[in-house]
Amino acid sequence: MLIVMDKKATESEIKVVVTAVEAKGYTARPIPGGDRVSIGVLYNKGAVDTSLFIGYPGVKDVVPVTRPYKLVSREFQSEDTLVKVGNVTIGNGHFAIVAGPCAVESERQALTIAALVKESGATLFRGGAFKPRTSPYSFQGLGEDGLKILARVREETGLPVVTEVMDDPTFDLVEEYADVIQIGTRNMQNFSLLRRAGRARKPIFLKRGMAATIDEWLMAAEYILEGGNSQVILCERGVRTFAHHSRNTLDLSAVPVIRKESHLPIVIDPSHAAGRRDQVIPLSRAAAAVGAQGVMVEVHHTPEEALSDGAQSLYPKQFHDLCRQVMAIYNV
Ligand code: PEP
Ligand code: MN
Repeated sequence: MLIVMDKKATESEIKVVVTAVEAKGYTARPIPGGDRVSIGVLYNKGAVDTSLFIGYPGVKDVVPVTRPYKLVSREFQSEDTLVKVGNVTIGNGHFAIVAGPCAVESERQALTIAALVKESGATLFRGGAFKPRTSPYSFQGLGEDGLKILARVREETGLPVVTEVMDDPTFDLVEEYADVIQIGTRNMQNFSLLRRAGRARKPIFLKRGMAATIDEWLMAAEYILEGGNSQVILCERGVRTFAHHSRNTLDLSAVPVIRKESHLPIVIDPSHAAGRRDQVIPLSRAAAAVGAQGVMVEVHHTPEEALSDGAQSLYPKQFHDLCRQVMAIYNV
């Protein structure tokens, strides 16, 4: 349930309502909005009697929440969340282009790619230091050395860096170096990781599980907001289907659904959806057209030598074209 306060409600009126909610055994979560405060009621089992709170001074309306997710829903917060990363904003009116290699392989590799993608228009740099690989024999990432290289990239280029955290024991370390902490498709329902992300002081980039419904994905985001971190970016990266012409099937329809259901920004990762380079530019154009608030794209200066995901990594020149095309569509 959501208690919508009057625009002119005073601090003390808000406090009185919070106390009344808590006296009933629920949790009250004040949510500051553009011009008014709303108070979310959490941990209720079953419907709450709306008449309990409608009569308090400063209360404008009491509305039942119909979705299983609350804090991430548009019902709780009608305005879009803007995620701030240094001087970069992600969300409505700000299209993010996150680009870089699948994995950080060396300082030279990361700095070379970072300079190229920055020149073409990337607003954030990506690169995995801890890599979730299907095979234990594949390159697993450089670990902390990779994080140090990412810090160098930020220093050299000024681009904020996005990198994946794979587990609880390395969370503190990743949080220390990353500007945005990525939770990958394989960990979307790792609930202890989601709870830790809720306590993080950095924005979280939450990828959709490869077989997750939109409700499951939003419930995963709910864990992070419930834990106290409201800076979450959602990323659609394709789901498993019977198709063989791409690695996954990009669910473009997730974008209008998420934008209707949630105030969180949504970004598309066409690289992991496609798994092959030739589909990445068309899917990125579609991402901008369908209303996504950014793309995350893998780029490598020598993809044939990449230690992971070379087949889907764009050549720098292709990435340059992608930026031009995507921004033209976004501006329309
Ligand atoms: C990645 O972005 O590096 C990655 C591993 O993506 P996903 O979790 O979507 O497979
Ligand atoms: Mn990859």
